[in-house]
Amino acid sequence: MVNRKSNQMKPLTRRSFLEELGMGIGASVVAGTLSSFVDIKGIHTHAYEGKKLNVALCGLGNYAEMLAAGLTLSQYCHLSAIVTGHPEKAEQWKKDYHIPINNIYNYENFDDIRINKDIDLVYVVLPNGLHKEFVIRAAKAGKHVITEKPMATSVEDCEAMIKSCKDASVMLAVGYRLHYEPTHLEIKRLGQEKVFGQVRMIDAALGYKTYDTTNEMEDLKNFNINDQTQWRLRKSMSGGGPLMDLGIYCIQCSRYVLGEEPLSVTAQFGTVNNKTRFSQVEETITWQLEFPSGAISNCTTSYGFNIDRFFASADEGYFELSPGLSYGPFKGKTPKGELDFPAINQQAAQFDGIGKLILENKPLPSHITGEEGLKDVRIIQATYQAAQTGRKIIIS
Ligand code: NAD
Repeated sequence: MVNRKSNQMKPLTRRSFLEELGMGIGASVVAGTLSSFVDIKGIHTHAYEGKKLNVALCGLGNYAEMLAAGLTLSQYCHLSAIVTGHPEKAEQWKKDYHIPINNIYNYENFDDIRINKDIDLVYVVLPNGLHKEFVIRAAKAGKHVITEKPMATSVEDCEAMIKSCKDASVMLAVGYRLHYEPTHLEIKRLGQEKVFGQVRMIDAALGYKTYDTTNEMEDLKNFNINDQTQWRLRKSMSGGGPLMDLGIYCIQCSRYVLGEEPLSVTAQFGTVNNKTRFSQVEETITWQLEFPSGAISNCTTSYGFNIDRFFASADEGYFELSPGLSYGPFKGKTPKGELDFPAINQQAAQFDGIGKLILENKPLPSHITGEEGLKDVRIIQATYQAAQTGRKIIIS
């Protein structure tokens, strides 16, 4: 797991990163290999020396720290500005990332970014319930936008965000980090090209035991869900529990491995072991998606236990990852051998993928746009409806 705190206090530069690794890039699995230095097979690519896309991070919480570390490693994007409600955080980030004073905003004066030529794109990394407001304000300021997943807390909000960006002629992407991750590009290929025949069944699960203070996983210490006032536990701010936060990865990988859109969903809420903490959002949910080919995907997500895996059963074989949906490194297996790709910095790869296209004024691929985010939110809403009613819900 990435140590978010250490990234914040001591930003990694390209050089320090390689020195810290003390390794040759050719290693088969290398924690945090730079996407800027190597392509997905671990081969050197030439360094890009042109203009970088200037990015403002809006919201400086845990995931923003990972994004900032990714920006430090990105070839095509540069952290030029920050938006925060906490002056002391602004001071720390100003020092850590050399942010000019004129490029520091709060949530009130955010709209002034309109006249700031040092900002090309705003990355909204706020609680889910605030994505809509800040995407629309960024679009109105004439800036391209990436918003974190889930895109918003309702289908209607997603539609409003897409419209605003279209009206302002700015690009809108959703921060789907696994779309740039080599192991995931491979399982997408294995599924869509039917390398082991038609995939019939997928089992995908991602969950974190978020309220165990003895849990030693570095990532969970920073997750900070032990606090009862945490936005993830408040429905108005989160839109829902682990399904919104983590289960979305199960939906995503099911869709891109099959290359199909689900027709219907059945779902069941799991046991609530901590009734006080989970009074507004689910602790655990399991759901089943049915696809046009007849394939089914059985998915589970939880804030009550640790799980991180993907399995696809196909007519002539299988492919699986465990761990498979988190930050990597991933471990995978097929009947023909292991899936052994270099572990990359997923955030840097995402910035490079999106940044390069925007700099070249090329359209973003449909699988990372607002329309893609909208599809997931529509599936999530149908899943909640299925769990609440006990009925199979047709996804429209
Ligand atoms: P966090 O709680 O660590 O950070 C949220 C930030 O928003 C904080 O800096 C907080 O001060 C600020 N904020 C502003 N207004 C707020 C309000 N009214 N209530 C609460 N906080 C407010 O959360 P996070 O883990 O960084 O998640 C932020 C977003 O990033 C979420 O949409 C989440 O789903 C997403 N995320 C994505 C990934 C990924 O792997 N792609 C990982 C973690 C989080």
